[in-house]
Amino acid sequence: MCAGAIGRELVQKLQDLGLPLDEKVIQRIADGYEIHGKDVSVNVVKPGRGTIYTVFRGGGPVSSAGERKSFDQFLLDATLRGGAEFLHERVESARRIRGGFRVGTAEGQSRDFDFLVGAFGVNSAITKMLVPGYVPPRTWHTVQAELPADNEFIRDRLSNRIHIVPAQGKTIRFLAITPKDNFLTLTGIGEHVRIRDLERERKENPILLGLLPPAAKVLCHCHPKVPVGTARSPFSERVAIVGDAFISRYLKNGIESSFDTSRILADTVVRFGVSEPVLRNHFYRTCIRQFRYDNFWGKTLFGIYEAVLRKGRFSDAFLKGVVADSAGKQGTQAHILWSVFAGDAPYREIAREAFAPRSVYELSRNILFG
Ligand SMILES: Cc1cc2nc3c(=O)[nH]c(=O)nc-3n(C[C@H](O)[C@H](O)[C@H](O)COP(=O)(O)OP(=O)(O)OC[C@H]3O[C@@H](n4cnc5c(N)ncnc54)[C@H](O)[C@@H]3O)c2cc1C
Repeated sequence: MCAGAIGRELVQKLQDLGLPLDEKVIQRIADGYEIHGKDVSVNVVKPGRGTIYTVFRGGGPVSSAGERKSFDQFLLDATLRGGAEFLHERVESARRIRGGFRVGTAEGQSRDFDFLVGAFGVNSAITKMLVPGYVPPRTWHTVQAELPADNEFIRDRLSNRIHIVPAQGKTIRFLAITPKDNFLTLTGIGEHVRIRDLERERKENPILLGLLPPAAKVLCHCHPKVPVGTARSPFSERVAIVGDAFISRYLKNGIESSFDTSRILADTVVRFGVSEPVLRNHFYRTCIRQFRYDNFWGKTLFGIYEAVLRKGRFSDAFLKGVVADSAGKQGTQAHILWSVFAGDAPYREIAREAFAPRSVYELSRNILFG
């Protein structure tokens, strides 16, 4: 339920916690992003900090072949080594009791806890049980498919890059191809995308056709939701909600956002406590400051670049200009494209660069004259 691309920044944050990424988890180290227009494409990468790792969140599309390990398993193993107890059961109820919560599982067990963390994402039915008044964030309904692809194809045809492709139809706003080890993850992002929208793109979108192995069959697909808003009331006395179920960066770095909201919560609980005012001041407000205002700029930037990239002739003129800029070593537009689609800089910093008079001039010149 995730394309599994993670940037250098998150890997560094994990390393700082004493968790260097296990080699068995890394499915590929991709050589940047390639952003496509109609007939032109541009490779964007940020030298030095541009490393992109791709991972499987679960066991992968087929049963694990020997050495493969999922990213989530890697994290779970680390928590167990750190002393956590793992109950492999679905939580079905959470009831407030004196000094904490009573949690009931699908197997009929119930246990009492002093503090609850809701890290259940946006694809769960449990959401409203935990915190009275909690309203999950608004979501989009995306599609994701796994396809087999030889590593030679990934190297020779895809240049070992993640590809962002404009969609033909209106339902999908962006298509992304994320290379793994002998597999590709194909993602369609939009407000309500169905598998038949993706299949139609596979048949009719000439750019996509050229980037997928001929006759490759979809091995499996899913319809995960992606948050595009902020939850309401994600905390109360002795309970807090982290990750997608609360707030994350607009259409990017979702795993890193979950890391960040979790770390802010852990800091709050350890340093200040678990009361409602403490959670509001130190957890909720810190997360909101980090993400909500920034996401306003994220939406604006995505909107602008989507509008440009989906307009065939304009997108080609723009991308030709970006290629020429990069060759001339200025590369402002290439840097902005990298930042919007891949980088981990805050959106407000990218917006500052994108809306500087020189960038606006370059963008307009590239669109109009290529
Ligand atoms: C199509 C798509 C592609 C994406 N690609 C990327 C990407 O390339 N890189 C990136 O950084 N982010 C990506 N994301 C975003 C990323 O997947 C999320 O931001 C991230 O997984 C959120 O983590 P989380 O822990 O909040 O929730 P999740 O990862 O959704 O985890 C929630 C967990 O809670 C469990 N759970 C739910 N309900 C219960 C219950 N009642 N009892 C017990 N367990 C329960 C679930 O089984 C699950 O394991 C993508 C998202 C989508 C939709």
